[in-house]
Amino acid sequence: MSTAVVVGSGPNGLAAAVHLADRGLSVRVLEAEDRIGGGCRSSELTLPGLVHDECSAFHALAAGSPFLAGLGLEEHGLRWLWPEVQLAHPLDGGREALLWRDVAQTAAGLGDDGAAWDALVGRTARGFGDLLEDIMRPLVHLPRHPVALARFGLDAVLPASVVARRWRGEEARALFGGIAAHAFARLDAPFTGSIGIVLAASGHAVGWPVAAGGSASITDALAARLRALGGTVETGRRVTDARELDADVALLDVAPGAAARILAPSLPARTARAYRRYRHGPAAFKVDYAVEDGIPWASAGARLAGTVHLGGTLEEIAAAEAATARGTMPQRPFILVGQQYLADPSRSQDGVHPVWAYAHVPHAWAGDGLEAVTAQIERFAPGFRSRVRAMAVRSPAAIEASNANYVGGDISTGSNGGLQLLVRPRPALDPYATGVPGVYLCSAATPPGAGAHGMPGYRAAEAALAWLARG
Ligand SMILES: Cc1cc2nc3c(=O)[nH]c(=O)nc-3n(C[C@H](O)[C@H](O)[C@H](O)COP(=O)(O)OP(=O)(O)OC[C@H]3O[C@@H](n4cnc5c(N)ncnc54)[C@H](O)[C@@H]3O)c2cc1C
Repeated sequence: MSTAVVVGSGPNGLAAAVHLADRGLSVRVLEAEDRIGGGCRSSELTLPGLVHDECSAFHALAAGSPFLAGLGLEEHGLRWLWPEVQLAHPLDGGREALLWRDVAQTAAGLGDDGAAWDALVGRTARGFGDLLEDIMRPLVHLPRHPVALARFGLDAVLPASVVARRWRGEEARALFGGIAAHAFARLDAPFTGSIGIVLAASGHAVGWPVAAGGSASITDALAARLRALGGTVETGRRVTDARELDADVALLDVAPGAAARILAPSLPARTARAYRRYRHGPAAFKVDYAVEDGIPWASAGARLAGTVHLGGTLEEIAAAEAATARGTMPQRPFILVGQQYLADPSRSQDGVHPVWAYAHVPHAWAGDGLEAVTAQIERFAPGFRSRVRAMAVRSPAAIEASNANYVGGDISTGSNGGLQLLVRPRPALDPYATGVPGVYLCSAATPPGAGAHGMPGYRAAEAALAWLARG
């Protein structure tokens, strides 16, 4: 029986481990921290009984993941729950734009811009399954659906700020801008339109669900599936040296810089150089709140929304993201707020609700972002401060300390600026191969990038299996 060792138990490490075990390998997962899950951990961060997602919260891409969908994870406790409104984007004066599962309902709320929303986002949502098959893989591949991919590509190459020109009203432009800001990059950078289009369409095609009981249910279910296949997971095992990779194949769910350190000196010089030069992007400053009776949003739709984007107009968000990308902390950063408890009431206790929020801040920013996050929520929900019963704050440094993959607080494990959105972690026909025989990188630094969907892990495992088959 061939053997595999997987370093790291994030969704990608576990996805790789499950796929290898499913193909008959004896698999061991080694995790540095004392809990599995990487970006999918959940815990009582503020008050007893309140379940907070430490990192990942909304799971359009996990619920829509072609690999995860085929694993029967519901038998291991994974259940998706949808809020009534997928996303709300409040504007000053109580105005708002809402993303509903239904395209027509969303378009109706956008007034004169509704038809253009349907023509771009609605059309993409209607062909979403086919599109995912082509974009959830490395850049260089034979397209499964060339016509759909080419049509998507025409808009996807554009900056988000250019894609947004098809809408006239502040509401539709802001809604799209906030979604595109998930790229964690300047909105006038090429290809940022693709992030906005795919994530907006996912809101219709899949929704933005949460995992019942907390995001840890995703990686707990993957670990349970792995154990059912005979695999094992060891926590408290930080791998620092290639000699610890004593198996036929090794998969590294780590950042490229860490892979370079672990694999030196056997790493080919070209890969070592590329991994050391790999760029990390802006950071998250995270605040979890315990809020009595929930957030008193001025706009009605936000009170029903799982995710709320705060940053005002498209122009305001674009300016904040540009500042963040060049290393300057904006006065009013872009904030994502999560109200997972609306879909999953089991996370609350006695009318006090866990609220998840983070700001986009510069890479490795050492300042205190608590007031900026709280003030941005208060701007759209006057009276919010008086409802907060407890808080837990994590700076970029604290985020990195809890997970070595988030270098400088970069929760995407790599900048999406420039070509790195498409070509990561280095230009190569097999982006998972490290150049060391049998050793593959499988983290979110590899295609198709960040998110708790497990696709990098699955594709890296496929590459390792092909290498084993070649003997
Ligand atoms: C605040 C925040 C919000 C997010 N929101 C969302 C969201 O809403 N939706 C979404 O889809 N994604 C979201 N993400 C991103 C998502 O969590 C990540 O993209 C995803 O977890 C990446 O999976 P991964 O397996 O590549 O790495 P990770 O989940 O980061 O896991 C890597 C694992 O490897 C371990 N490790 C690292 N180095 C070593 C070593 N040397 N030895 C042993 N173990 C090691 C780490 O401890 C960790 O457990 C968010 C992330 C954060 C932090």
